[in-house]
Amino acid sequence: MKSSDANPASAQGLQTRSVHAGEIPDPNTGASSPNLVMSSTFLADPEASFSAEGSHGEDDFFYTRWANPTVAQLEAKLAALEEAEAAMAFASGMAAVNGLFFHCLRPGDHLVLGDVVYAAVSETADSLLKELGIAVSRVDTSDLDAVREALQDNTRLVYIESPCNPILRLTDIRAVAELVHEAGARLAVDSTFATPVATRPLAFGADFVVHSLTKYLGGHGDAVGGAVLGPEADIAEIRRKAGIRMGGIISPFNAWLILRGVATLPLRMRAHEAAALEVSRFLENHPVVSRVVYPGLESHPQHELARSQMANCSGMLTFQTDRHAELPRLFAERLRVIHYAVSLGHHRSLLFYIPTNEILDTSFDLTETQEARYREFAGDAIFRLSAGIEDPGDLCADLDQVFAALT
Ligand code: PLP
Repeated sequence: MKSSDANPASAQGLQTRSVHAGEIPDPNTGASSPNLVMSSTFLADPEASFSAEGSHGEDDFFYTRWANPTVAQLEAKLAALEEAEAAMAFASGMAAVNGLFFHCLRPGDHLVLGDVVYAAVSETADSLLKELGIAVSRVDTSDLDAVREALQDNTRLVYIESPCNPILRLTDIRAVAELVHEAGARLAVDSTFATPVATRPLAFGADFVVHSLTKYLGGHGDAVGGAVLGPEADIAEIRRKAGIRMGGIISPFNAWLILRGVATLPLRMRAHEAAALEVSRFLENHPVVSRVVYPGLESHPQHELARSQMANCSGMLTFQTDRHAELPRLFAERLRVIHYAVSLGHHRSLLFYIPTNEILDTSFDLTETQEARYREFAGDAIFRLSAGIEDPGDLCADLDQVFAALT
């Protein structure tokens, strides 16, 4: 029996859904926690076809590249949290992004891409998509006129992040969704930084949501995964192409770890937000720091949009300092609580240095105006801090003892 049968998931609160949605107690043993099913294959109906496209009869599970009981529980939980018709979990966030691109885009099509998105997505658009004959326009999607101007007759997909990695600029999802739909295109939002606790893009009109499950949803820095959520018919097609044919599926073990992580997502997000706010205020008042960007601070240029679009401001902040050239080595050598490392959204705080000239050269092909807008948020360099769920006072003390080592 599905644990949600007595009370439909949509009627339940987010914490209840995080714990229960999708989970099915084992019908044979009564085990209360989700089973980890590592089996690659399943006893088959004698009528089942060997073909990828053929019918597999009434069987829910046939071969793990098609579907797996542990992965299916994770997908159902994610769909319940984002209030999506369906979800597909992937081997990584990048596999999810590419699964979506291959579903939505054909040679001759046009993609409107947020001008500042996760570096590997931007680099994929510049290389792989262009090689496949897909035209790409980069747009600062916080500027609605720029979005309107970029849309063309052959625009099939608009892909954005809000808040975007790494500068934490927001996009008004509802307003962009209206423009995109008027133009007959579809909107995908990478909501990795926001999580469904903060923002549910589908409720604002987006067609697809993308997550790197490696980040807040998994939450513990021990499992890489990704997901695309959206209409059932699209997800079935994405599963056929990106899962069954291209094989970008998540391991059941990772799905099981992430399933366990998601159960505490709302609790963790409250702690991440509280820590990010306290650390942001500490940094704002520190003489070494010249600027802090955090959507939860009144000083964030889009604080009002953050208040209306984000029920939780998440744990990501950036700060700038004139001493940025000396600090990466000091942070890497001297931080005791915070880890100097990439990634984000883990229970453990993580900090990394992102110099502006370097990322503009390696990852973003921007116009002069777009570069200037990037610098408005990032100056010459940012330190990106993913505030974990440690005691916020310990995070501030850890940063302070590194600043004190500056000569
Ligand atoms: N989207 C965003 C916003 C990210 O920050 C990342 C990774 O940092 C990805 C997607 C890619 O996710 P993964 O590392 O799980 O492939």
